[in-house]
This record gives sequence, structure tokens and C-alpha cells, in this order.
Amino acid sequence: MTRDRTLELLSRAAAVLDREFGHLPGFESERATASDASSLQAVLDETARRLGDNYPYFHPLYAGQMLKPPHPVARAAYALAMTINPNNHARDGGRASSEMEIEAVREIAGMFGWTEYLGHLTSGGTMANLEALWVASQTQGTATHRRIVGSEQAHYTHNRISSVLKLQYSSVQADACGRMRLDSLEDELRKGDVGTVVVTLGTTAIGAVDPLPEILKLREKYDFRVHVDAAYGGYFKLIEDVLDEPAQAAYKAIAQADSIVIDPHKHGLQPYGCGCVLFRDPAVGLFYKHDSPYTYFSSKDLHLGEISLECSRAGAAAVALWATQKLLPLQPDGEFADALAKSRRAALDLDRRLRTDSRFEALAGCVPELDIVVWKMKAESTQGSSALAQSVFSACARRNLHLALVQLPQFWFGSAGSSRELGTCLRSVLMKPEHEVWLDRIWDELCGACSEMENG
Ligand SMILES: *Cc1c(COP(=O)(O)O)cnc(C)c1O
Repeated sequence: MTRDRTLELLSRAAAVLDREFGHLPGFESERATASDASSLQAVLDETARRLGDNYPYFHPLYAGQMLKPPHPVARAAYALAMTINPNNHARDGGRASSEMEIEAVREIAGMFGWTEYLGHLTSGGTMANLEALWVASQTQGTATHRRIVGSEQAHYTHNRISSVLKLQYSSVQADACGRMRLDSLEDELRKGDVGTVVVTLGTTAIGAVDPLPEILKLREKYDFRVHVDAAYGGYFKLIEDVLDEPAQAAYKAIAQADSIVIDPHKHGLQPYGCGCVLFRDPAVGLFYKHDSPYTYFSSKDLHLGEISLECSRAGAAAVALWATQKLLPLQPDGEFADALAKSRRAALDLDRRLRTDSRFEALAGCVPELDIVVWKMKAESTQGSSALAQSVFSACARRNLHLALVQLPQFWFGSAGSSRELGTCLRSVLMKPEHEVWLDRIWDELCGACSEMENG
């Protein structure tokens, strides 16, 4: 590993923070003195050894699931905030960090083109989607048309969230590029009971982008709420101009959604525990109304707990996000956007190589829309192809290349016959900017793993 200067910089910032409270009478923390340094060191060493039992998520040869290391500034700011451990439920518990959350969320809303909105951070995408669907159902009152629909490639938690909210949920078919099928959607809309359509911009499996502009057209005719789940793909808004159509048009239409979810802990360089939900109409804040007898005393300004389903929330998550966006503003021509473009180029590069090699089959009708690549191993049968994918996955892992597996309909690869049958495919999420320059190495290891198997 390269030398990480984060800890040095952190200890300097920690001294600055200490001075902020320098006017208080000094005291010796009982907790720090109770356990002596050597036992603390022993426990930390043991902790470090336990943490060694992980895939190397931070390394470019980890190109499997959606894991991207937090930016050093996010790690340091989060750790710095731990001195205070603020709670962003109310300003009483998180004065500075509530302000920082409001500022950071304003920048995210601004990225989507919203200046008037309601929004806040959550513990993750699932909670953010839960809030969006809860608000959707609240705006629809006790009406019977409250059914929620999403594509069969929408995140699996939408179904479960709907059941928590006691709302019906149905899946709409996806096409051979993993995008929601408009004819299947309209079949559902004609039934007259759909209240909300979940539109995924960047599906978890393959990064497919649902046809948002066409779905917005259907909204004029059938009147439903549009919730955009951009937990994974939201930041690609910054590089929409380099995306292919129709994804580009979908991103350009995003401001017309009723609600948007984005996960800073996916592509936003944040430690886990950072999702974000945004509503186009600030008036939905009314639905959160409650009378907490404990919490809102220190300020007449908005307390974030007044517009959030969760009560306590990590102020540190807001501090980390705020610091990251200070260093890397959410600008289309900035360094952050540049890193996303690198990921996308890496995906297109891998996809191109797969198409020139007869051992693999790439998606038949489309190239990757974002930075996720899926492919199948060529074989006589789906069963054979699935088994081969599993072996390649393991052989790659032995060579330190970590990919992922995913079950996908075989007709996406243009295989004759067996249409919707699922087969095991290989998947690589190329989220790190380093993936672009590491692609030769990734390709070599993948080919090496395949040759290993061919040779016995
Ligand atoms: C990851 C993801 C979610 C769930 O978000 P968590 O932060 O894991 O709770 C929801 N939707 C999509 C499209 C996702 O990729």
C-alpha cells in the first residue's frame, strides 16, 4: 500500500478542534486513563488482524461489487467529527453538523437542478427510498390508487419497503438492456390503481437506465408520482453529456421527478451510512409533523429531525460529505466528474475487449450505460455457462482479481431459445478511477484465469 498521510493531517486538524474548546477547564478523561495504553494497543492490533480478513476493497484489482474507498478527506473529517460525535436529529445535538448537512444536501439538489426542494441525508439508499415511498403514499392519502410499480431490475428492497408500508408492489418487465419496458408499464397503468412508478437510473445489476422521458410522458396521461432511484447512478448526472442516448436524455429529465434518491456512500466517496432523499415539493415536509417532547429547544431554524423518518443520525456522515464536496465540488468539469468519466471509459474498454474474444459473450443489444460490465461465458448450455462463470470467478480470485457474479436472463445475450431463463454471469463494477489504467492488468488476469481452466 502507498503511504497514507491522512493520519498526519488528521492529527493537525484535531489540534485545531481542541483549541476551539480551549476555554473550558481542563480535565482528565476517565475513560482514557482507565485502560492503559498497552491494553488499548493490544486490542487495536487484534482488531487490525481481524480486519485483514476481507477482500481488498480499496485495491484496483477489486473490481467486483459496488465498493469504492471513501476519499481520505471523508475519512479524516469523519474521524475528526468523532471528537464531538454530533447527532443530526436536532440542532441541540448537532449544531455545526446540521448546518453542514443542509449545505451539502443543497449542493446535491443543485446538481439535479433543484433550488426549491426538501431533502436530507439518511443512513443509506434503502432508508431514503423508504422515505420517498412513504411520502408518496402520504400524498395519496387513503386513495385506492397507491400501488407501486418498478422494473424487475429495480432494487430488491422496493418490494420489501412496500410491504413495510402495507402498499402493493408489482414488477414491470425489463427489456434486453435491463431497462423498464414501456409497454409493460402502460399495461399496469391502464389498471388505474398505480400511485407511484419507481424509475431506476443505474440498476444495481448492470447500471441500466430506465427511459425517464417516456415515463414522464405517461405521467401526463395517467397521473402518478415518479420516484427516481438513483442510489447508484445519481452522480452520473455530472457527466450526462458523455453518456450515450437514451441514458443522456434520462439524466437530462431528472429534475422533473417528484423525488430522487442518491447514495453518497456508493459513488460519492463516503463511508457507509450516507444516503440522501430529495423531494421536489418542499410542502411534503408537513407529513413528517410530530411533537417530540424532548428535542427542539435550541433554535427556531429547521431541525433535520422534523423532516426525517429516522431520529438520531450520524452528524459525522454530514461532516464527511461536506468536507468532500468542499475539496471536490459537484461540478460537471471538476475532478470528481472526471473520475466518473474514467470509470465509464474503463467499462467501455472492458466491454470492447470482451466482444473481441470468443470465450465471452457481452450484452447483445447495448454497451454499458454507466460503469458496470456484465458478460457470460460461452458454452453449449446455460448450465454449462453458469458453471464456467463460477469457475472463472474463483480462478480470478486466486489471482487476486475479484469480480462478482449475477443471475441474468439469457436472452439479454442474444442466446437463441430459452428467453427469460436466468444464468450465472460475471459482473464487474469499475467504480474506481484507477480502474481505467489498471484495465490491461485486469484483462490479463481474466484471460489468465480462463487459460488456466482450458489447460486443465
Ligand atoms: C444500492 C442500491 C439501493 C440500496 O441502497 P443501500 O444504500 O444499500 O441501502 C437502492 N437502489 C439502488 C438502485 C441501489 O443500487
